[in-house]
Amino acid sequence: MDTLSQRDCGSIAYGRPTAEEAEAAVRTLIRWAGDDPDREGLLETPGRVARAYRELFGGYDIAPEEVLAKTFGDVGGYSDMVLVKSIPFFSHCEHHMVPFKGQAHIAYIPNERVLGLSKIARLVDIFARRLQTQEAMTAQIASALTEFLKPRGVAVLLDAEHMCMAMRGVQKQGATTVTTAFKGDFEMSAALQSRFFLLARS
Ligand SMILES: [Zn+2]
Repeated sequence: MDTLSQRDCGSIAYGRPTAEEAEAAVRTLIRWAGDDPDREGLLETPGRVARAYRELFGGYDIAPEEVLAKTFGDVGGYSDMVLVKSIPFFSHCEHHMVPFKGQAHIAYIPNERVLGLSKIARLVDIFARRLQTQEAMTAQIASALTEFLKPRGVAVLLDAEHMCMAMRGVQKQGATTVTTAFKGDFEMSAALQSRFFLLARS
């Protein structure tokens, strides 16, 4: 199995086209949709879309270990669950390149070291700003925390609405998908999982 670090260098591994090439591709998609990329309202659109993509998919340019490198050891003996909940995120499904959005609830049980709390939200962004499935994103967050923080346990719950389901196909608006991943102590303990659900949903 490839390691997380190998998987994470997408942009380096696959090479990135020039901005001009990206803009030409957007012009093609505009024509594919049925419109004229040369009409006034659309002239600047390919450039805007190309620039927006750099931001929306900026997660390929940051490795999770950069965010998780700085930890703190002085926690006054704290050893219970740390839960950061209701972290909003936006991502794009890798099947249709259409957005999905939702909230992440992430807990870990420290093993002497803790993370700055904002780092957890940044970690979510790194993986959200890539082409994703919700299942893979859930697993990647759990694996990155396990690999780089080495806590006693990790729990991740994502709750998201997929626009590809709301806008096309079966058109079920408001339906959300929940995915979970448990590592370490959480894997073995139904009691810990229950506490996580209770705190995350309260
Ligand atoms: Zn989709």
